[in-house]
Formats: sequence, structure tokens, C-alpha cells
Amino acid sequence: MLARFAVLSLALLAATAAAATPAGWAPGDLAHRKGDERVQKGIKHALITPPKRALAEFTPVPQRGAVRRVSLPPGKKLVALTFDLCEQRFEVAGYQGGIVDILRRNGIKATFFVGGKWMLSHRERTQQLMADPLFEVANHSWEHRNLRVLSGQALVDEIGKAQSAYEQVREELEAKQCAAGGRSLAHEQAPKRLALMRFPYGACSAAALDEVARQGLTPIQWDVSSGDPTTGQSARAIEQQVLGHVRPGSIVLFHANGRGWHTEAALPAIIAALKAQGYEFATISELTAAGEPMLTATCYDSRPGDTDQWPRPALASQPGDVRTPAGVLSGLGWPWSGTPGGRATTTARR
Ligand SMILES: [Zn+2]
Repeated sequence: MLARFAVLSLALLAATAAAATPAGWAPGDLAHRKGDERVQKGIKHALITPPKRALAEFTPVPQRGAVRRVSLPPGKKLVALTFDLCEQRFEVAGYQGGIVDILRRNGIKATFFVGGKWMLSHRERTQQLMADPLFEVANHSWEHRNLRVLSGQALVDEIGKAQSAYEQVREELEAKQCAAGGRSLAHEQAPKRLALMRFPYGACSAAALDEVARQGLTPIQWDVSSGDPTTGQSARAIEQQVLGHVRPGSIVLFHANGRGWHTEAALPAIIAALKAQGYEFATISELTAAGEPMLTATCYDSRPGDTDQWPRPALASQPGDVRTPAGVLSGLGWPWSGTPGGRATTTARR
């Protein structure tokens, strides 16, 4: 009898766990693992070859510029929290699961802009995010090159290879569930193709805007930068920066790739304050559908032109880099000295 009760209890526990988890993972498998947040630089296995595959069908979108925020009907108070998961060529970036745990624990919708290379170095985490009904996953380029200075095939590939990575990882999620007897259809939560794109460094050119649109993606910028890739930024400063600038329809930029400094510490107070002010949290797709997206003809952080300072001319070049009389403008990862909210900051990367 006791044994039967134990079996029943175990079955109930399993059912409860399955209902509580968004994608068929046990809570322990979804939770943050210490060390995952670490960025590993200069390691041999950092270089990844993107998958070669035929992409799902898509339709180009009309090119109108980058979405900075959304104008909402009076009285509607939506805000979109966004988290970038950037990974450059010679590194394996981190995963700040503590941030995702906070979002899940509080039922907060969010959008993750994920680098294609990050998706392949963090396949299961990517699948957990894409399968979670709270979250939306979007394109953040293949290996975080500066699209403002890329041209030709390099520009095409930097966008398209992230799409290939996503479609491969989604396909693997689908196969896993078939192997598990189809008890969960988590992959159906994730669209077959990504629809949104965020430019690395918040930098674009007319050619990059054209190419993103040609590949069926809508460019998404932000109107509130948390400043979290800046190492010297405290949790309190992030909180003040975000709460001081959010308004209905805002898109807020954070990072969760090991370069979101003090983001996890700042997040609970930010969520609590926004809730107290009557805000509801939306994914980018929900936010843009709820009002009129506000577009700009170019991309910038806080002021038009402020992302144009990078990169500075260099000697070495990679395929697709732009040559100017002053030298080569390399699209490879570049230091970012952003001034979120107009304040001076130390060097960081985003
Ligand atoms: Zn980024």
C-alpha cells in the first residue's frame, strides 16, 4: 500500500512538474547553473561553422527603418523588456540563467535577441527559451559583427546564418520530442522562422536595413538602454536609468550573455516598480501589434549618429569589411563606449 502510494505521489509530482514547466523540462534543468554566466575568451572551440541548409520560406518586409518604441492608445501601459545574447567569433559567451529564473518566477514576458553562434554554443538553453510561452526569440546576427560596415555576401551571411542556426536548433527540439513519444509539443511554441532582428552595437547602414528587410526581418532598436554592459554600472544605477526613462510603449535593452553587469540584481526592483505603476509586460511582437511602431530611418543608441563612431579604422581586414581612405572599417567585434542616457561610461561591449 505504502509502495503504491509512493508511486502515486511520484506520478502526481511528475504531473505537477510537467504542468509548471513551459517546455517539458524539469525545473532543475531550466534553472540557472553556477558558472554558465562566464564568458570564455580565446578558446579553441570558440569558432563554429554555421549550418548549411535551405531556409524556411519567407517574404521580404517593406523597409521603413528601425523600431525604437511603440505609440500606444491612451491608457495602455505596455513595456517590452529585451535581453541580448551576443557572442563574438573568438569567444563562447555566457548565459545568465538567474535573470531568466526571475522572469519565469514572476511570469514576466520578454524578448531575447540571440546570436546565431550563441544558439549553437547553447543549444539546450536556446530551446528552453524558444519553447517558453513567456518568451520570444529573435535574430541578433551570426557572430555579432558590426553590420554598419559590412557589405556584399558578408552582410547577407551575418543575418542569414543566424536564421540557419535558429532553424537547425528548432528542428533538433522537434526531433527530441518525437523521440520522447510526442508527449510535449514545445517546438510549436517557436515559429518556424525568426521575424525580428537587432543590430549588434545598435549600428546599421542603409544597406544593412535593406538586407534585413529583404530577409523578411523587422529591425528592433530600443528607446531605453539599461547601460548594463558597462562594468562600472551598479544595480541601483541600472534601476534608476530604466525607471527614469520608461514610458508606455518603451523597449528596454538589457544583456544576459555574461555581460549584463548587475542586471540580475537590478531586475526585481525594476519589475516591482513597473508593476506598481500599472505596467504590463509584453513581447516585442505583442507590443508592436498593440499600437503604432515608431520608426527611425537609421539606428542609434540615445542620439542619432552615436553608434557611427565604431569601428575606428584598422589595418587588418576580413571579407566584407569596408575600405575607406582612412583605412579598413572592420565589422568584427569592437569596443563600445556607449553613453546610455547621456551619461559617460567606461568601455564595454554590447
Ligand atoms: Zn549584442
